[in-house]
Amino acid sequence: SGRWARTRALVKEFDEKCGTPDAKLKQIADAMTVEMHAGLASEGGSKLKMLISFVDNLPTGDEEGVFYALDLGGSNFRVLRVELGGRERGVVHQEFAEASIPPALMSASSDALFDYIAEKLAEFVADEERLYEQPAGKERELGFTFSFPVMQNSINSGTLIRWTKGFSIDDTVGQDVVAELTKALKRKGVDMRVAALVNDTIGTLAGGRHSDPDVTIAVILGTGSNAAYVERAQAIPKWHGPLPKSGEMAINMEWGNFRSSHLPLTEYDYAMDTDSLNPGEQMFEKLISGMYLGEILRRVLLRLAEEVSFFGDEVPAKLKIPYILRTPEMSAMHQDTSSDLRVVYEKLKSILEISHISVKKRRVVIELCNIIATRGARLAAAGILGVLKKTGRDSVKGNGEKTMIAMDGGLYEHYTEYRKCLENTVFELFGDTTKSSVVFEHFNDGSGIGAALLAASHSLYL
Ligand code: ADP
Ligand code: MG
Repeated sequence: SGRWARTRALVKEFDEKCGTPDAKLKQIADAMTVEMHAGLASEGGSKLKMLISFVDNLPTGDEEGVFYALDLGGSNFRVLRVELGGRERGVVHQEFAEASIPPALMSASSDALFDYIAEKLAEFVADEERLYEQPAGKERELGFTFSFPVMQNSINSGTLIRWTKGFSIDDTVGQDVVAELTKALKRKGVDMRVAALVNDTIGTLAGGRHSDPDVTIAVILGTGSNAAYVERAQAIPKWHGPLPKSGEMAINMEWGNFRSSHLPLTEYDYAMDTDSLNPGEQMFEKLISGMYLGEILRRVLLRLAEEVSFFGDEVPAKLKIPYILRTPEMSAMHQDTSSDLRVVYEKLKSILEISHISVKKRRVVIELCNIIATRGARLAAAGILGVLKKTGRDSVKGNGEKTMIAMDGGLYEHYTEYRKCLENTVFELFGDTTKSSVVFEHFNDGSGIGAALLAASHSLYL
């Protein structure tokens, strides 16, 4: 029928606009490399902030003692207690508690957010006080993983540049987030010192390096997306401080804000961006990360519902609610292997409250999931290629040099199709032969352990 032909035409057009042929990915990788240079050259020189982390030594394995970590990244946060046993024993023990951030606090006041976090930390400490006694005269020390763009002033201070990922609290912007947390800890009577402020990418880099000395890059694919890597200090013109002894500095790229005319943007992406809390910002993140993939799918489905009555005569009211279709649901549909695509039906039924959808249309939904996830994964791969190029690791050296990429984030962890596509694309762009020189490794909660390790190496009591 005419409707079906129009459905096919719309899907085909979307697919073409989302296209990421290898040649385009190479252009994007090159653009990433160029922006990395520009961001390192001068403050504000690029959309890539290329933030200096003040981490010039990654963990060695010698770290010892009990340290805490607080991970504030997106929709929820975690509190960890990590016992480090030094070279012989490594991470001896870890415990954690997790809590979600009440959505209202994501746009309330700075004090309200940090009070809430301090309260949860207080509960955690009170709970473990029964089992573990902090030595007298020694304050507890904490690594604070804060996964938003921060202009770092030292290893344990830094001002918030802007919120991302759905947070929007005006009075935190421009403030030192360590001071904000420290004040809240005081208000709540928690005796704890923030020894290190780290981005989650830097934490993952540190956690990854602790378990494997070949780790030089970390990539997060969760609610948002970002990457960090180890740069030669000499290659950072904007760094005017003393050259670190190690000759190296970990850089938090803030690659979520990368933008290039080569990015395959569609009308759905532009509309989602316009309606977002941060229009014009984080365009790369909006194409590749977990907060947005499901929302892009919703927007395409809404168009199909409106233009070709995809879900019947009425447009399902729920389909008009932004962000109602989440990426975990999208990935469950995408990976539906049942013969009658039962999962697609169940998910759409429960989210959109529709009663019927033909198997033929369920296939279209999967096709859309595939287009959106493939574009995201391939673009993320291009970003990784850009970092490999910048560090001169994009060709086989023949000396057996390995580049280990520490990966983390819920999207990477759970969306298998996405992960496979990302990894295969990196290998493909490299040419098959290098498969053995680039290795992806998932470091679950690497950022939390990494923050505790960095707190240890910046402890007052060394
Ligand atoms: P954060 O990025 O908020 O610190 P995570 O790394 O745990 O936290 O990532 C959570 C994100 O991962 C979710 O917002 C979601 O987008 C994505 N995600 C979680 N589970 C899945 C899943 N099963 N399939 C696809 N994406 C998922
Ligand atoms: Mg996180």
